[in-house]
Amino acid sequence: MKASKMLISTLKEAPQEAKIDSHILLLRAGMIKNQVAGVYQFLPLGLRVLHKIEAIIREEMDHAGSLEILCSALQPKELWVESGRWMKYGPELMRFSDRHEREFCLGPTHEEIFTDLVRNLVKSSKSLPLNIYQIQTKYRDELRPRFGLMRSREFLMKDAYSFDKDEAGLEASYQSMFDTYTKIFTRCGLHFQPVLADTGNIGGNGSHQFMALSEIGESEIVYCDACGYAADVEKATAKLVETEKEAYLNLEEVHTPNQRTIEEITQFLKVDAKKTVKTLIYHDYVNEKLVAVLVRGDREANPIKIVNALNSNENYLELATDEEIRSLNTYHGFVGPVGLSCDIYVDLEVSQMTNFIVGANKLDYHLIHVNFGRDFQGTVCDLRKVVENDLCPVCGKPLQQERGIEVGQIFKLQTKYSDAMKCTYVNEEGKNIPMVMGCYGIGVSRTLQSVVEQYHDEFGIKWPLNLAPYHAVIVPINYNDEAQQALSNKIYASLSKDTEVILDDRNAKPGFKFKDWELIGIPYMIICGKRSEEGIVEFKNRQTLDKKEISFEEAISIIKKSVQEL
Ligand code: ATP
Ligand code: MG
Repeated sequence: MKASKMLISTLKEAPQEAKIDSHILLLRAGMIKNQVAGVYQFLPLGLRVLHKIEAIIREEMDHAGSLEILCSALQPKELWVESGRWMKYGPELMRFSDRHEREFCLGPTHEEIFTDLVRNLVKSSKSLPLNIYQIQTKYRDELRPRFGLMRSREFLMKDAYSFDKDEAGLEASYQSMFDTYTKIFTRCGLHFQPVLADTGNIGGNGSHQFMALSEIGESEIVYCDACGYAADVEKATAKLVETEKEAYLNLEEVHTPNQRTIEEITQFLKVDAKKTVKTLIYHDYVNEKLVAVLVRGDREANPIKIVNALNSNENYLELATDEEIRSLNTYHGFVGPVGLSCDIYVDLEVSQMTNFIVGANKLDYHLIHVNFGRDFQGTVCDLRKVVENDLCPVCGKPLQQERGIEVGQIFKLQTKYSDAMKCTYVNEEGKNIPMVMGCYGIGVSRTLQSVVEQYHDEFGIKWPLNLAPYHAVIVPINYNDEAQQALSNKIYASLSKDTEVILDDRNAKPGFKFKDWELIGIPYMIICGKRSEEGIVEFKNRQTLDKKEISFEEAISIIKKSVQEL
């Protein structure tokens, strides 16, 4: 490809909206362009990379026996009502009506569509197991679209769905997808970690997320070096540390004027935060009630665990307002479980504590020497957020913490959708049995940007060879120089046969051209300069920034060889 015909649109500075390196670089390299918040166009260079990632995904999915189809993004409301998700999915679902007032949504995911398809197409158990996938555009009206392709409102996803006769079948399908994902992300060059995950909106039980490790990742993960346990913090549990139990002391009220926060109380009463308990009041909009959640004073509550305990939805759970707190006859900053007139959920750790401090439900007062079971009742479950150095739930060693970008997630759905939507097969006894399902997503566009996040330096992107938009670029210092032009053309003709190569025929300063290719991240650069007549070129490796003078034949052979080895 000749650079003069490539619509290269590199930028010196990234637009203000871009905050993280990978977003800045994709915009500056002219790989993507922003349309409106959370909506991007792929320009020629970016699209080539996207296609390469898609190709890896297709190869591995096909290899695992999955069948590719393509569905519409438009989905009729009726199917979502049937699955029970039309109301439950929340404001992320982009809903609209057509001219006949029939309601639709733009698919954020395709469980309903695939389940509907399979219930209509498959009747006999002979067709099972079945695994089908698509690579298709998804829509989610994200609350905060940001970081470019990382969290956009329109994005490319590979979604696959498996249909099995029974649990054992699902286990095998799930494991096969787990292995396939491991191959896909390895081939994309990502440093990643599969972690145990919560199942969120999709439902069912059993899930893993694939996390590209990165400081800018929105997900926190904990893992254990000793035994390999790894989980998203939303899901992570920790071994309960038994604290020594004191003899119960008498409940007492203490005057704590204006001392509302845990920090204020610990200073005022000169106690450790570990002796205090926070009472958080939430409004659960799904079950339309106020509930109290108790965690130790120095802990954070984990909203996902709360939602699971309440059988609610994270989009429909909010901390109560002061007014709502007042409706329980208590006061913000002085809330406590004793005598509280709402359902109380008690973190496991709190249920083990003795003689702790809570709000007294009376302005400017707290209670000391409070004990669960004696002074109040409640449902005990794991509700707190796990932190670094908590103990591994499997082996008891301290947990480490890292941040990750969720590039993929796999779920065991079981019969959640096949039950609701009657996706059944007929067994040997002639009975209708619901198929046992799994679903498997990869954020294709998010994966592309995650690669940039892991492969860049101050000069630009450093694409791994197999994902780079082109393998090599030939840069004559001056294309109008006869010898340089002749040699460039010769190398171009040779490399064009077996590799993806660019000839920079632009009439621009060499420094300008070098900067462009470094920013765009082409793995190999061949510079034809003063020694062109002798057939000597400068050869630059974008990964290592290594630079050497070699014969043009050698340069060609290095590039051809490394492309062949891909
Ligand atoms: P997140 O927790 O990041 O919002 P999710 O768990 O809701 O993602 P899934 O329903 O598991 O996402 O979708 C499958 C994959 O699609 C995700 O693993 C992620 O890589 C990608 N993805 C999800 N939402 C977005 C988005 N807004 N922009 C880009 N990619 C996304
Ligand atoms: Mg997910």
